[in-house]
Amino acid sequence: MGLIVQKFGGSSVKDRECLFRVAKTVTDTYKAGNEVIVVVSAQGDTTDDLIEKAKEINERASKREMDMLLSTGEQISIALLAMAIEKLGFPVVSLTGWQAGFITHSNHGAARIRRIEAERIRRELDSNNIVVVAGFQGLNRFGDITTLGRGGSDTSAVALAAALHADRCQIYTDVDGVYTADPRIVKNAVKLDEITYDEMLELASLGAGVLHNRSVEMAKKYHVNLEVLSSIENKPGTIVKEAVKVEKLLIKGVAKDEDVARIALIGLPDTPGIAFKIFSLLAAKKINVDIILQSIGRHNTKDISFTVPLADKDIALEVLQEKFEILGAERIEAEDDVVKVSIVGAGMQSNPGVAAKMFEALYDANINIQMISTSEIKISVLIARKDADRAVVAVHDAFDFNQK
Ligand code: ADP
Ligand code: ASP
Ligand code: MG
Repeated sequence: MGLIVQKFGGSSVKDRECLFRVAKTVTDTYKAGNEVIVVVSAQGDTTDDLIEKAKEINERASKREMDMLLSTGEQISIALLAMAIEKLGFPVVSLTGWQAGFITHSNHGAARIRRIEAERIRRELDSNNIVVVAGFQGLNRFGDITTLGRGGSDTSAVALAAALHADRCQIYTDVDGVYTADPRIVKNAVKLDEITYDEMLELASLGAGVLHNRSVEMAKKYHVNLEVLSSIENKPGTIVKEAVKVEKLLIKGVAKDEDVARIALIGLPDTPGIAFKIFSLLAAKKINVDIILQSIGRHNTKDISFTVPLADKDIALEVLQEKFEILGAERIEAEDDVVKVSIVGAGMQSNPGVAAKMFEALYDANINIQMISTSEIKISVLIARKDADRAVVAVHDAFDFNQK
């Protein structure tokens, strides 16, 4: 007996059959004597379809109106799932993000959750209802609907688990756990029984879309007992937790991030303060810079290149071009034909040679590395977009992922 939060992603609620499968999982958990909160995403490709619809009307629609539109996807799912649960004969109530008390920051399209005013949910649970909550959405302090960013329903679920001190938070999806690489790209990827919050956070932040990175951040902060598992097969998934029993693997996984663009400023004066000028211009526009590379100065000039999220490429170019004279660069180049491929694992801290092994795998596959960045538990490389999946497979093949 306990309080359990179960989250079902878009493909897990995409049609009638899926909805009744979810209803069965949920009601089985309820029948076993648990209080159950269910978080759902929009059905199938609904969110993508809504984005397309918006583009047909206005390519540069305001973020406020985009949130107004996108939040409708989840509202459909909660109503339909609640109807399926009713049909099975169980007490249920569906709640939108705002009915459920999600208060977020104001930035539309990527809002962070500030708090959850959970009285309504608590009341519904006390009345023995199964509570179905729309993921991905909340209300800002102006009373406007916000969304949490693509994949954000995971974060809604973990936030509820944290706020209500749930015993477990289960993320049901279309794969049966977290793998050492996206199983759709790497056929021999291995399912992990467990992974640490830190490693999962790196993987998620580096493009492994199986969990929204903020959900992992929050799970770590509030010690949420988190599991990723299949919505179709009834079997154990992957447990995400503080520390794993015995560290068996050097590398936990390979991830690919397609959401990158590279900007290069060529022929900058080789004088102090240049990097400061460039990056403060970008910071003022709230642009997140990732990998940074500066060449050694030659003939009194140097080059600086860096990556930004794809969506920020044009704004970054705009602000840099505006200050072109002041920066003194010969030219600015921008490229979105790149991807970032990374390996993640706490084991690499104490084992030399991990980077060499990754670079060798890329060399053997004849893939050129454009940029490199490392931290204690990850190594990332920027490569041509056309080589992305080949690189993931080659790098994955270079490491031994056998847990036994
Ligand atoms: P949902 O709709 O349930 O939220 P997502 O599509 O957001 O599902 O996430 C699940 C998908 O994440 C899988 O279908 C898989 O292709 C992808 N994925 C990427 N990296 C990994 C990984 N390391 N392990 C498992 N799945 C991964
Ligand atoms: N429906 C949203 C999306 O497609 C949120 C989610 O699925 O988690 O990004
Ligand atoms: Mg998802």
